[in-house]
Amino acid sequence: MKKIDILSLTPDRLKEYLKSIGEKPFRASQILNWLHEKRVRDFDGMSNLPASLRERLKSDFTFEHIKPVRRLRSDIDGTEKFLYELPDGNHIETVLMSYEHGDSLCISTQAGCRMGCRFCASTIAGFKRNLEPNEILGQLYETEYVSRRKVSSIVLMGIGEPLDNFENVVTFLNILSSPDCTNMSLRHLSLSTCGLADRIYKLAELDFGLTLSVSLHSPYDEKRSELMPINKKYHIDELMQACRDYFDKTGRRISFEYALIEGENDSEADAKALVKLIRGMPAHINIIPVNSIAERNYRSDRASAQRFAKLLGSLGANATVRRTLGADINAACGQLRREYEI
Ligand code: SAH
Repeated sequence: MKKIDILSLTPDRLKEYLKSIGEKPFRASQILNWLHEKRVRDFDGMSNLPASLRERLKSDFTFEHIKPVRRLRSDIDGTEKFLYELPDGNHIETVLMSYEHGDSLCISTQAGCRMGCRFCASTIAGFKRNLEPNEILGQLYETEYVSRRKVSSIVLMGIGEPLDNFENVVTFLNILSSPDCTNMSLRHLSLSTCGLADRIYKLAELDFGLTLSVSLHSPYDEKRSELMPINKKYHIDELMQACRDYFDKTGRRISFEYALIEGENDSEADAKALVKLIRGMPAHINIIPVNSIAERNYRSDRASAQRFAKLLGSLGANATVRRTLGADINAACGQLRREYEI
């Protein structure tokens, strides 16, 4: 059986394991402190553990690190993009952005994506596999280590569909928020989904207190199915029902992402239908001028995005245009990995 990485263990699982090998419970606190507080790089660095326990850990777990193989820095706004190599040779991207309220990290949850959104570079290079919890968390730890910057918020908006890797993402969220581990409040985390309605219900049950971002991109089933094939499985009605349930259970306002594409979803009728769709739901709409990718002829610009947001505002919706960061380093997810995978 494949060994699990020690950084993928929740405190409960670590305690169970230690009990099963006859170790005292206080060893769990020591190990967690090495992993998450001191961020030790190997088992031998855990210097207050007896050598016999370190050897036992080495034989039962892996402790591998993702490796930064490229690092790009924007001259415009200091955004940094990291291409990481996973232990099996796959690649993922992580983006570090600087905001007034602190640094924010955009994390990947899968190597590739199988959702097939037409405008997205991550899906074009194909799906390889789910990331393990340690590989998701590792993006935070490695980026903080390499950049010497401290991350204060996280967005799960990198490569992959987080709800398509549900179990590992939930384990990651448990470790990230545990006071014995990273101890980050999940109020500082947003999870972005293309709309797997059944998993949105499951996520609401877990009540993590995180912000749910839903990639909508069109208020019409026909157009949305064309842009986002997942819509054929979960129609807009079903998705909206899941969003309402998420709000009712968690009290967290939903954030809708809307990548504006010239001639596809930017008409006045689109704006009216969008406002009608979310009426009565506490929500925010984030307009993103679509980022052009080589394979598709989709276009937009900031001025159109601002006009569309203003139109939504005049119709009573709460809409803003997402700040464009790292324009000179192609910071939109998936584009750098793509150069490596093909
Ligand atoms: N799979 C998740 C998260 C990853 S994508 C999701 O679909 O939400 C993060 C966000 O970037 C999504 O809103 C996605 O629709 C958007 N996106 C992808 N490619 C884009 C592009 N070329 N231009 C603008 N936004 C894009």
